[in-house]
Amino acid sequence: MQKVGFFKSIHVKLVLIYVLLIIIAIQIIGLYFSQKLEENLIDNFQSSIEQRIDLVEYSIREELLKQRDETMPTIEVSLTTILREFSTGDLNEIRVIDSRNRVLATSDLNNQLLVGQKSNDDIIKKAFTTEDSFEKIALDQNTQNRVWLLATPILDTMGPDSEVIGAIYIESDIEKIFDQMDEINQIFAIGTIMSLVITVVLGILVARTITRPISDMRRQAQAMAKGNFSRKVRVYGTDEIGQLAIAFNNLTNRLQESQSTTEGERRKLASVLSNMTDGVIATDRRGRIILINEPAARLLHMSQEETLNRPVASVLGIEDEYSFEDLIYMKEPLNLDFSTDEAPYILRANFSVTQKETGFVNGLITVLHDITEQEKNDMERREFVANVSHELRTPLTTMRSYLDALAEGAWREENIAPHFLNVTQTETERMIRLVNDLLNLSKMDSQEYELNFELVEFNKFFERIIERFEMSKSQNVDFIRLLPETSYFVEVDTDKLTQVIDNIISNAIKYSPDGGNIRFGFTVHDNMLKVMISDDGMGIPKENVGRIFDRFYRVDRARARSMGGSGLGLAIAQEMIEAHGGKIWAESEEGAGTTIFFTLPYELDEVGDWE
Ligand code: ATP
Ligand code: MG
Repeated sequence: MQKVGFFKSIHVKLVLIYVLLIIIAIQIIGLYFSQKLEENLIDNFQSSIEQRIDLVEYSIREELLKQRDETMPTIEVSLTTILREFSTGDLNEIRVIDSRNRVLATSDLNNQLLVGQKSNDDIIKKAFTTEDSFEKIALDQNTQNRVWLLATPILDTMGPDSEVIGAIYIESDIEKIFDQMDEINQIFAIGTIMSLVITVVLGILVARTITRPISDMRRQAQAMAKGNFSRKVRVYGTDEIGQLAIAFNNLTNRLQESQSTTEGERRKLASVLSNMTDGVIATDRRGRIILINEPAARLLHMSQEETLNRPVASVLGIEDEYSFEDLIYMKEPLNLDFSTDEAPYILRANFSVTQKETGFVNGLITVLHDITEQEKNDMERREFVANVSHELRTPLTTMRSYLDALAEGAWREENIAPHFLNVTQTETERMIRLVNDLLNLSKMDSQEYELNFELVEFNKFFERIIERFEMSKSQNVDFIRLLPETSYFVEVDTDKLTQVIDNIISNAIKYSPDGGNIRFGFTVHDNMLKVMISDDGMGIPKENVGRIFDRFYRVDRARARSMGGSGLGLAIAQEMIEAHGGKIWAESEEGAGTTIFFTLPYELDEVGDWE
């Protein structure tokens, strides 16, 4: 969060407002006060001077109206004497002007040259014309002091009409009043500064009581933005700010609660998304991936990071065929085929649109599901049916052609008929074998069968089967026994296991040349008995070794069929060995021979029991 600048802080603003208000108030009071005080002082000064002037005026009027003779001193001298007498204290100078506007006398000794000269002061002229006093404040050119000038007409009121017989002009020093005012203003200014300092200090303290909770709340809000809800704002009182602080704390609690609920929901959703086996991809309204769960990333063989923000169609590898709009309107699931030559890999994608209440498309949810297995099963099933039909059709067509020939009269031919019947018999037996094998497999698929376990000494059991083959073998092959001396006991379903070993041995004989060897052996490892039946016949090409346990699989179809095989023997063997809890596999080299291994679970204790 942005830091609040010093001058932008409420604290400083509040203090500034206080100070400004105080300054304005003090200024208004001060201005009014000094104005009034100045007026008052000037009034007092003027009225004291005017009182004295009244006296002077009286004496001068008497003097001017007096009948003069030679014994008396001249009017100028006597006026000067009067003026000198009054010209004391604040009065700088008093002049008497006669009716013809000439200076009759002045109290100022240095200014005696003025006597007899015409006076041209405007206030004297005004006093003459209006017969009233005039005053003004002017600046003394010599002393640079302010002076108060007053011109008062001297009226002769003896006659019927009053008549101006002269005027008195005075100049008094008013500067000291202004000096006094300056002093008072200075005192006032100092008072103002002092009160300002005090109010600033008080203002800071008072403002703190308001701003402290506010900055507390600010810090709290900042902490909340960072996800820290543990702080609480201190409540200082019950005023508006206190209430605000309480409301703020409530808000914090509610926010914390709702945040933890949202967080909980988010976690639940995240765990649902990551624990489901289906892949889920969510996009924004422009089709860019905003969420992809772990299984989806795994199914697409990508990391979550590298898919985020990419268009969903490109991540699914269908951007050439479908646009994002096409996916939005896609009602049917879409199969994405990522199969390679080595392995099939098919994903099924279901699309659903997320919409706002207004119907506005908000995004697309894609659910991915691995259907490789299902597709493979479907394919296997189709293949199986095709195989079964094919396997049955071959003997049936053979039989039909032989039976047709018999029906058309061959039954009468003594040297052909038995052969024809023999062929149909063989084919029927083949079909019965095939159907029996299929029934066996189908039983195992539906787990309808039960294994009848019995404890047998494996050495003897194996030996008996080998002997049976040795007795009946039509081919010139040598049987080599690599069986251990010690007796080992295993718990197996002897019928089923006989069937398995029969098939492996008959295969070995079938695919071995005359004079070949077949080796039999078994070893015991930990809790497994590992059986080995090995031949040095034609072998199996490397790429096909893994497939010989598939149903109907034959390396060389034509040759195998001629040997009576349908390709189900090893498939049944695998089912049976797995039902026993073991494994079966083959190792082979083309032209050098084949070894079939299978394991059976073996418990060591049983040996001890029987010994
Ligand atoms: P069935 O056993 O049903 O009569 P089959 O022997 O052809 O017919 P499997 O036993 O399942 O079928 O064997 C599958 C195929 O594996 C055989 O057709 C053969 O091509 C190959 N095969 C099995 N054993 C050997 C072996 N010992 N040597 C070479 N090829 C073998
Ligand atoms: Mg076989």
